[in-house]
Amino acid sequence: MENLVYYLDQPGGVFTPKTEIIPEPGFGEVRIRVRRTSVCQSDVVIYKVGLPRIKEWPAILLHEVSAEIEAVGEGVTKFEVGDLVGIGCDIPCGDRGCIYCGDHGTGDWTSCPNTQATGHEFPGFARSHAVLPDWFVELGPIVKFPKDFSPDHACQLEPLACCLEGMTRVNNCIENRVVVLIGAGSQSTYALQCAQAMGARKIIMINRGEERLNRVIKDFGGDNVVGLHWDDNVVERVFAECRPFNEPHFVMVNTPALPGYELAVQLMGYNTVLDGHAGVKGAGGKPCIAHEVDLNNDIHYKLQCYQATHGSNMHGIGLAHDLLANGKLTLIDRMTNATERFDHTQIMQAITRAADKDSLKVIIDWDNI
Ligand SMILES: [Zn+2]
Ligand SMILES: [Zn+2]
Repeated sequence: MENLVYYLDQPGGVFTPKTEIIPEPGFGEVRIRVRRTSVCQSDVVIYKVGLPRIKEWPAILLHEVSAEIEAVGEGVTKFEVGDLVGIGCDIPCGDRGCIYCGDHGTGDWTSCPNTQATGHEFPGFARSHAVLPDWFVELGPIVKFPKDFSPDHACQLEPLACCLEGMTRVNNCIENRVVVLIGAGSQSTYALQCAQAMGARKIIMINRGEERLNRVIKDFGGDNVVGLHWDDNVVERVFAECRPFNEPHFVMVNTPALPGYELAVQLMGYNTVLDGHAGVKGAGGKPCIAHEVDLNNDIHYKLQCYQATHGSNMHGIGLAHDLLANGKLTLIDRMTNATERFDHTQIMQAITRAADKDSLKVIIDWDNI
């Protein structure tokens, strides 16, 4: 059986299609047919400058994927031919004895020293088909959607799962609370939709670029949503919007830059949870962002919480699956407009479009193979 695989030769290089023979799935394995891949901002960065986690070039990129189960190996009971599945990016390390990822593990794959992810250490899904190994099928982040479910929605399982990990690591900070989202990219826009679905009292989104902020507020806004242009008075304006509270309850940093963190810490008040959701990485590596916290007055008396998540485990995948499969994200189609749809022959154009300042979620269609 033939497999169409797109290899990127090097960062900044070209995607070259190659036809390869793909085997039948062995014991415990499944073969999937890719339906959609969506483009993550990390794909844009990997395309431009590479990533130390990708050890081998040419590489197969793209980790946000929905697929059909096309063939199942002997012994597979979780899936059957024809199932539509969404797949997470962070996956078990493959050691079935691992205390994080194994058969009796905690499931916190992102804490495993041998953590791996699709489109990183494990090949991505810029390919028409893939055979997934037994440990991936058995323990990994693959979830089934109803057969008539939209593959466009299913491929957004992974970015949604990452977002929900950040919003639920600390209990009771979204429902009926004031949520501040720093940045207006796709993670913030997913967070806005999730916060709505989770019953947030008010959602304040802050962004420097007005183009994307306007798009997000126009398409995803509501009576309890406020968009603030990030100017010199933004801290005072956030506090004013929080009234009758004096401060927000949840501040999510979704902009991978130092100023996002500098702003976030100024918004900390009583009972505020800071979610450092976007890591900061530059050519010189991961910079230290120092900030002094008073463990007595800030943490104990003011009940502040500083936390973070990156990537997703089954917890986030389960939450994302629930919101998607039960139709709780009613506006998700607005993440992708006509200018953000491509087919598999246009991977380069898709990544270029995802890098634009106004873009939210680019989707690549693999059905016409
Ligand atoms: Zn991603
Ligand atoms: Zn492990």
